[in-house]
Amino acid sequence: MAKEGLKKRLKIIIEKLRDNYPEVKSHLEHKKPFELLVSTVLAAQCTDDRVNMTMVPLYKFKYRNPKAILEDGIDNFRNEIKSINFFNNKAKSILALCEILEKEHGGKVPGDMESLTKLPGVGRKSASVVLGHCFGKEDVIIVDTHLKRVCARLGLIENENPDKIEIELKEIVPTKFQFNFSMRIGEHGRLICHAKKPKCGDCFLSGLCPSYNKV
Ligand code: SF4
Repeated sequence: MAKEGLKKRLKIIIEKLRDNYPEVKSHLEHKKPFELLVSTVLAAQCTDDRVNMTMVPLYKFKYRNPKAILEDGIDNFRNEIKSINFFNNKAKSILALCEILEKEHGGKVPGDMESLTKLPGVGRKSASVVLGHCFGKEDVIIVDTHLKRVCARLGLIENENPDKIEIELKEIVPTKFQFNFSMRIGEHGRLICHAKKPKCGDCFLSGLCPSYNKV
């Protein structure tokens, strides 16, 4: 019974999110799956703006595919991305990732969760980003810091572990809405439901939120 109430509330939340954030777009600029995959790995503990600023010109003029990064070599690649947090370890991951793409996938990004999460530096979150944006998968949920915070405040989840949150949400969010829901919740976290001082007074979900004016 409690779950039925939750699902009814969630249905309205999904509709309101769709109405308020009609466009679902990645903040990481990319023209193909390879670029989004590399940028997603580089964006861990770094801002999307910093990654875009560094990588967009490189994708255009230098790193058009995994082979180009491999041929340029780790030292040059590391030097190119040195403005990005943890560039040293990330450079190693990207080179190893490019090698696997070349050797096992013909230089292309695979379009399934299992293959993607075998790549160095790629967890379920990054894989879901690529699958949702580049392969049109609807049944993926991007569990990032914004989704965790906003879903917890809305009383949609009980767990803190990302894998468990993904399972919890997949039980209640209809399959065809999962990717868009997670993107829109993320956007709501960025714009309204901030970590510190959420703007509850401006929030279109206030009537549905048990944390209204309590954070
Ligand atoms: S009412 Fe406040 S706590 Fe709830 S989702 Fe909106 S901004 Fe976040």
